[in-house]
Amino acid sequence: MKNKRSLLKSLKFNYKLGKKTWFGTGGNCNLFLEVNSIKQLVNTIKIAKKFLPILVIGSGSNVIIRDGGFKGIVIKLGGNFRKIEIDNNNSVLTVGAGTKDSELAKFCVEKNISGLEFLSGIPGTIGGNIKMNAGCYGDQISDNLINCTIIDEKLNKKIVKRNEIDFHYRKSSFDSRQIIIEARFKIQKRDKLQIRKKMSIISDKRKKSQPVSSRTGGSTFKNPTLYPAWKLIDEIDYRGKQLGGAKVSNLHSNFLINYKNASSLDLEMLGDEIKNKVWEKRRINLKWELIRIGEFKKV
Ligand SMILES: Cc1cc2nc3c(=O)[nH]c(=O)nc-3n(C[C@H](O)[C@H](O)[C@H](O)COP(=O)(O)OP(=O)(O)OC[C@H]3O[C@@H](n4cnc5c(N)ncnc54)[C@H](O)[C@@H]3O)c2cc1C
Repeated sequence: MKNKRSLLKSLKFNYKLGKKTWFGTGGNCNLFLEVNSIKQLVNTIKIAKKFLPILVIGSGSNVIIRDGGFKGIVIKLGGNFRKIEIDNNNSVLTVGAGTKDSELAKFCVEKNISGLEFLSGIPGTIGGNIKMNAGCYGDQISDNLINCTIIDEKLNKKIVKRNEIDFHYRKSSFDSRQIIIEARFKIQKRDKLQIRKKMSIISDKRKKSQPVSSRTGGSTFKNPTLYPAWKLIDEIDYRGKQLGGAKVSNLHSNFLINYKNASSLDLEMLGDEIKNKVWEKRRINLKWELIRIGEFKKV
C-alpha cells in the first residue's frame, strides 16, 4: 500500500527531463515515474509498452536529452532498487541498480571492500555504470562483476553472467529493452586506510583536471585508440570555445558544459562542430560517448 502510494506520488505528466540530467537540459517526456519494486517495474512496462516507448535513466549523468524531449515514459529505479547487501560468506556484494555510485563507494569504505574505489568520483548509478561499462584511471565496473539480474524484453527476470555480457570501452551488449535491476560483485578486502587513500588520490586528480562542479555530462567523446580526445580537441583550438550557452571546458577539453542556459541543441551542435573539425584536420572520427536521446525541438 505504502509502495503504491509512493508510486502514484511519483507520477509526473509532461515532465521536464532537464530536471533529471546533469547538463540540466532536455525537453519533456509524456510521463515520468520512479518505481520501487520489480512488481511495479514489470506492471508499469506491461501496461505502458502497449502505448508508448520506455526509457530507463539513472542519474542522467551521461546523457543529452534533446530539447523536443522523449515521446514516451521515463522510469527511474528507486526504493528496493537502492539496496546494498553482503552475503554470509563475506564474498559477494549485491547492489541494486538504482544505487548511486557515491552511496556504494561510502559503503565499501565502511566495510573495507576494495575494487570499486573509482566509483567515488563518478556521479552515476550502478545500472548506468554497467550499461556504459563506466570506469576511470585503469578500473572499470566490469572488472569485479559476477553477474547482473535484468528484466528482459519479454519482461522475464533473468540472471546474466559476466561472461555472457560483451563489455567494451564505455559500452556493454545490453540493449535498450533490457533493464538492469541488480548486480553482484566479488568482494576483495583491504585496509580501510588504503581504500581511503586511493579514493582521495582519484578525487584530487579529478578536481584538478575536470569541471566536476559544473553542469556537464562527463567525457563527450570516447578516446580513439591512438590519441586522447582532449588532445585532438586542443589541436583544433576548441578549449574554451562557446556556442550559444554551451562551452568546451577550460579545465578539460573533452568535457562540454552548460555554461549559460544552454539548450541541448547548443551542446550537440558544439559537439558535432568538434567532430567535423577533428575529421578535417586529422581524419579521425571522434565517437560520441554521451548518449543522445529524444527528438529535436520543432521550430
Ligand atoms: C562530472 C562527471 C564525471 C564523470 N566521470 C566519469 C568517469 O570517470 N568514467 C565514466 O565512465 N563515466 C563518467 N561520467 C559519465 C557517467 O557518470 C557514467 O557513464 C555513469 O555510468 C552513467 O550513469 P547514470 O546512472 O547517470 O546513467 P544515465 O546517464 O542516466 O544513463 C546512461 C545510459 O544508461 C542507461 N541506463 C541507466 N540505468 C539503466 C538501467 N538500470 N538498466 C539499463 N539501462 C540503464 C540509460 O538508458 C542510458 O542509455 C561522468 C559524468 C560526469 C557528469
